[in-house]
Amino acid sequence: MQIVVDLNRCQGYAQCVFLAPRVFELHGEEALLYAPAPPEEQAERVRRAAAACPVQAILVGEQAGAGAGTDVR
Ligand code: SF4
Repeated sequence: MQIVVDLNRCQGYAQCVFLAPRVFELHGEEALLYAPAPPEEQAERVRRAAAACPVQAILVGEQAGAGAGTDVR
């Protein structure tokens, strides 16, 4: 799976770090590091993290490319 975090939106609430610590990591107060292509075994955790983010900064899989074009059928 692929994920994108909108770091302009991210406020460093760390909900994602709590829910998927292998994928998201907080360095200092607001610097979020993350794995853009986490393994499938982390998918459920990542989805939960995305749902829990208070500012919806985490885009998962399909969503990450949404709006890029209309060639999806
Ligand atoms: S839960 Fe959202 S706002 Fe909080 S650190 Fe993760 S991406 Fe950023």
